[in-house]
Amino acid sequence: MLTSLSLAGCVAYAEETVQEPKYIDLHKHLDGSITVDIAKKLAELQGIALPTDNDEELKDLLTVSPDCKDLNEFLDRFELPVSLLQTPEGLSEAVYLVMEDCKATGDIYAEIRFAPQLHCENGMTQEDAINAALEGLKRSDLCGNLILCCMRGENNEEENMETVELAKKYLVEDGGVVALDIAGAEALYPTENYRELFAKAREYNIPFTIHAGEADGAESVRLAIEYGASRIGHGVRIYEDSEVMELARDNGIFLEMCPTSNSQTRAIDNMEEYPLKDYLHYGIKVTLNTDDSAIEDTDIGSEYDYIRKNFGLSDSEVLTLLANAVDAAFTSYEVKCQLREELGLPYVPEENAEYNGITAEGAETAEAGSVFDEKHLVIIDTDTAGDDAMAIAMMAKAPNVEVLGVTVLPGNVSLEQ
Ligand SMILES: [Zn+2]
Repeated sequence: MLTSLSLAGCVAYAEETVQEPKYIDLHKHLDGSITVDIAKKLAELQGIALPTDNDEELKDLLTVSPDCKDLNEFLDRFELPVSLLQTPEGLSEAVYLVMEDCKATGDIYAEIRFAPQLHCENGMTQEDAINAALEGLKRSDLCGNLILCCMRGENNEEENMETVELAKKYLVEDGGVVALDIAGAEALYPTENYRELFAKAREYNIPFTIHAGEADGAESVRLAIEYGASRIGHGVRIYEDSEVMELARDNGIFLEMCPTSNSQTRAIDNMEEYPLKDYLHYGIKVTLNTDDSAIEDTDIGSEYDYIRKNFGLSDSEVLTLLANAVDAAFTSYEVKCQLREELGLPYVPEENAEYNGITAEGAETAEAGSVFDEKHLVIIDTDTAGDDAMAIAMMAKAPNVEVLGVTVLPGNVSLEQ
């Protein structure tokens, strides 16, 4: 477990962070991260006239007021950025510039998410949008990946399914599309509606996170976990149901928490009771992220500072959050090693690396029940979601078993040599 960190690691980190804090941001929307600077560059590149030349007025159009009135005010702020992201060059440049911003604010790894279907207003297809975003990602020298968002909404089942198919087509371990998500109005379009969509993602072995427990309650998170999400976008409302808290903890589910966003969208009424540290101490794998940094006028360091200042986040707790982020990242073992090194975290041997909270070491004794022979690793999973079996399959690194192929069957997973 990475929560038991060596003192040496803590000291190394503490010394290093005095000079230059290093972070990981796993939950960052492209359209919500378009700053005044980026908007101006995108407008100029595409010959688009912005609604105003005045920076202050432009910022008002891109950023919510500190006492954001309601969710509508928040959602209105997406209008201008989305209009600047409708051509391949605009989208590519935006990904590049947002990655540059991440680097400038201390991120050593970032996952940028966007919904390809929101970039098809001027003739781009979803696939064009993905290719444009990939081009921008590759121009940045910051280590990072893309998450494709499906959207909660009406009459967009086809578009969502297309996003899943494209995620399958473009899925890589590193340096490109690494996972799926669903974003949008959770309270209006509940997670229950997307069972089939994520069953398809599971069938294709596409890792995914789901926005849940933000505008809707703990039940939404329970469903997301049941569907097979290894990470939850926000999950801040799981305190409403102790069984869901237990489920998240026992399944090693990562929460991508974003305090400023939760405050502005009123996901939490009283920020003095923001549950991040409670979840951390309960044993849930919490990570700290920005969500929509331009709309919220925040950055990753400010999110850490906010929790530090208001809840007394210690250096070792910072380290745990970062270690959780490394574990949660949709990236290769090699990149995780590199990130651990940069953060001053202890080295974790590959066979002990965690995937959905299960170590390879534990694979043979997983509650799922496993059968090994010389050529095959067969895991019969007993839980309804098949999470454990999926996690072990994803590792494909169980001791003494060379895995050449993965076959997913309903309720169980067979790894064939
Ligand atoms: Zn989000």
